[in-house]
Amino acid sequence: MKRIQLFSILLIAGAAVAVQADGPLPGYDDTPLLPGSKWRVHDKNRPYPVVVTPGTSSTQESPGKAPSDAVVLFDGKDLTQWETGGRGADKGKMVEPRWKVVEGAMEMTPGGGDVLSKAKFGDCQLHLEWCAPPPRGDGQSRGNSGVFLHGLYEIQVLDCYDNATYADGGAGSIYGQYPAMVNACRKPGEWQTYDILFEVPRFDADKKLTRPGYVTVLLNGVVVQNHQEIMGAGTHRRVATYQYHEPTGPLKLQDHGNPVRYRNIWVRPLKLAE
Ligand code: MG
Repeated sequence: MKRIQLFSILLIAGAAVAVQADGPLPGYDDTPLLPGSKWRVHDKNRPYPVVVTPGTSSTQESPGKAPSDAVVLFDGKDLTQWETGGRGADKGKMVEPRWKVVEGAMEMTPGGGDVLSKAKFGDCQLHLEWCAPPPRGDGQSRGNSGVFLHGLYEIQVLDCYDNATYADGGAGSIYGQYPAMVNACRKPGEWQTYDILFEVPRFDADKKLTRPGYVTVLLNGVVVQNHQEIMGAGTHRRVATYQYHEPTGPLKLQDHGNPVRYRNIWVRPLKLAE
């Protein structure tokens, strides 16, 4: 019978459960220490990775499933995980989003305003899918929206299929900073995927930046940003700069006047080594 390991962890009903060992652990305690580490090569006492049940891939027809440890922000049903800035008597308050749910997607309602996730994240892995409406207009007017990491750092959403715009404003760009490495856009009306790894900027006790943010972006499975240093918070026609912020922040999806749809949005908070 195969021995079960002491440090193997199972996620059962959301709770981490350690599995007890009933025999010797595989590995070594007489191998050299790894440089800068307390662990030895093949260290038998080194904790095992937490077990995660992977999700499933999406097709054009239907969204896939999130991994078991993901925070699901939209699963096609409702906008309960989202909020938006109030207006009129509700000004200064966060209220229910003015976007709508259509055919299992959340659709930007022009003039509805940006939506923000109620949950806040620091370092994270983000998956979402977006779909541009039938083309109307050109350049930045075609299927424009945006994924604002931490509510501040924009990964541009734009229908870039046979649509010219300035390079640092296309799909997969860090808006106003770095163009996508390639244009991997699908046609409008087709679902497109973003898989994003975000390392949140760090600030010290004096609120000074100590490490910029970094982002890796895959558009439709194609790398378009590779651990790219972020210059600062996204902006139009100006050089981005950093302003102090908390270690966690919401995900923001932009209202840029075009009825872009989103589906299958989930986030995995990451614990990165400092
Ligand atoms: Mg945008």
